[in-house]
Amino acid sequence: MTIIDAASVPRGSRITADVCVVGSGAAGIPLALTLSEKGLAVVLLESGYMQEHARTQALYAGEVADEKMHSPSDRYRQRRFGGSTPIWGGRCVPFDPIDFEKRDYVANSGWPISYADLLPHYPLANEWAEAGRFVYDADQVFGAGVNPMFRGFSSSVVCTNSLERFSCPTNFARRYERRLRQAARLSVVLGANCTGIRLVADGGAVSHLDVATLAGNRFEVAAFAHVLAVGGLETARLLLASRDVALDGVGNDHDVVGRYYQCHIAGNVGLLTVAGEPNRVRHGYEVSPDGIYCRRRLAVAATEQRRHALTNMVARLHFTRITDPAHRNGVLSTLFLAKRLISYEYGKRLSDGEAPTLATYLRHVRNVVTDPLDTAAFFAHWLSRRTFADRKFPSVILRNRTNRFSLEVHSEQIPLPASRVSLAESCDELGMPRLRIDWRYDPADVDSARRTLDLFASEFERSGIGKFAYDRETLEADLMRFGAFGGHHVGTARMGRDVRTSVVDADCQVHSVRNLFIAGSAAFPTSSQANPTLTIIALALRLADEIAARLDRRQATAA
Ligand SMILES: Cc1cc2nc3c(=O)[nH]c(=O)nc-3n(C[C@H](O)[C@H](O)[C@H](O)COP(=O)(O)OP(=O)(O)OC[C@H]3O[C@@H](n4cnc5c(N)ncnc54)[C@H](O)[C@@H]3O)c2cc1C
Repeated sequence: MTIIDAASVPRGSRITADVCVVGSGAAGIPLALTLSEKGLAVVLLESGYMQEHARTQALYAGEVADEKMHSPSDRYRQRRFGGSTPIWGGRCVPFDPIDFEKRDYVANSGWPISYADLLPHYPLANEWAEAGRFVYDADQVFGAGVNPMFRGFSSSVVCTNSLERFSCPTNFARRYERRLRQAARLSVVLGANCTGIRLVADGGAVSHLDVATLAGNRFEVAAFAHVLAVGGLETARLLLASRDVALDGVGNDHDVVGRYYQCHIAGNVGLLTVAGEPNRVRHGYEVSPDGIYCRRRLAVAATEQRRHALTNMVARLHFTRITDPAHRNGVLSTLFLAKRLISYEYGKRLSDGEAPTLATYLRHVRNVVTDPLDTAAFFAHWLSRRTFADRKFPSVILRNRTNRFSLEVHSEQIPLPASRVSLAESCDELGMPRLRIDWRYDPADVDSARRTLDLFASEFERSGIGKFAYDRETLEADLMRFGAFGGHHVGTARMGRDVRTSVVDADCQVHSVRNLFIAGSAAFPTSSQANPTLTIIALALRLADEIAARLDRRQATAA
């Protein structure tokens, strides 16, 4: 119908709709549009505006128990129309069937739904993310045995055939703005901050949501269904801060909201020296027949994960440490020297946490000066294939003449109740308590990564691909150099059957509140090796079907 500013909503009024969705990120926009295209009346409340807005972004500021282990809470997420999608990297990967299983060796694992329950929604999620067909097996996309990751490598333990597909990366606000404007019975309200979930007296349903603007306007929204699609951190904040009827926070009867907070364990580790010619290795991007950048990675087969009691982890081939000028690569040294010009989110992992010496800077400058042709060629490629391209080349990939790589690890972490977000004493400009983040990991996460790397090493050696070595003593420090992997905020309102250990049920409904739902990674019980967004979208689409079916049932009963 329209996109309006919350300032124009009459003060003290109540908006009604079939569904109120709070948050317009990767979860909120597909959810709201799908519901509206099913004929439902939808209000989409969004705190931010079309562009970044400093005072709105400041509403995300909070406290972090240990800033070495977790970035500030207003980094790695954007409080604006489109959520964090204007800055996301676009890597799309579905969760694996094993992620949904209860695994005895992963404490607190197990979803109340299976991969098969989500599978019908993944292809459409791929479309929303503009990541092409829902096919993630390299043999199916490129043909069996075409351009393998390592020529001559064959293993039933380590797979090199699973793909990552890359979105444009799609900025959901820009891409879907017109569709939102044209949708029948859908209103998007910008500058509308949901500040509280108000329950009816017995606590079993939402009466309405409180909405406030930074300029002081106040109004309410009441709907048949209310969906929080405010991201993995803010979901917990909103539930915990709504304490008028449920004194410990909405859905928090068993002190679960905010607990089991997960990100990913990630870092660059070791040295893989591949034997033979450089063309024996494929480590960059391939373009699929449907025009999508794809990349292969190393993964452990599910049967082997079970047999060795391993958490789900993948590794990509990566250049050796950028901070160490010994790589003698002009492009890497240029990136190192230019890191202040790169946004916090993308620049963070370009430093070591240690201040470089003047000698280090000079050696980087020498690399640039002595490698001018490669450096110039790289920037020409970057400008044409990334800066000015609609579908952007996903990341820096360099021709590797040395056949030496580090492994870029990305792993799930074991969900821990002690890893949590809670409310701080201080409040934001709207009077809402700020977040306090205390992210933790289990030593077993590092142990599992170690055993997975050992499996990679033994399979490389067995197949004659080459040698992988890493420093066992420094592995934990290497994986924790930058703390929690930013931008993936998982588990703070987890899905489950047991109300004592979960917040929402298999339909993403808050257990104790019949018309309140969570869309987003807050509802994931475990974090997988995969980046979260594709699964966030798939789960949101599944939720749209569920809400529409409930509304149909209510209307049928009323009729
Ligand atoms: C630098 C970076 C790179 C990333 N790269 C990848 C990647 O390659 N692959 C991947 O899968 N994921 C990636 N992510 C993660 C991805 O961006 C998120 O998973 C995704 O945006 C989450 O979608 P969401 O809708 O759940 O939350 P968000 O995108 O955070 O959207 C939440 C929305 O809610 C609004 N909101 C918040 N509070 C309120 C309130 N009280 N009232 C009203 N509105 C509110 C916000 O303004 C925002 O619009 C990356 C993230 C970052 C930061």
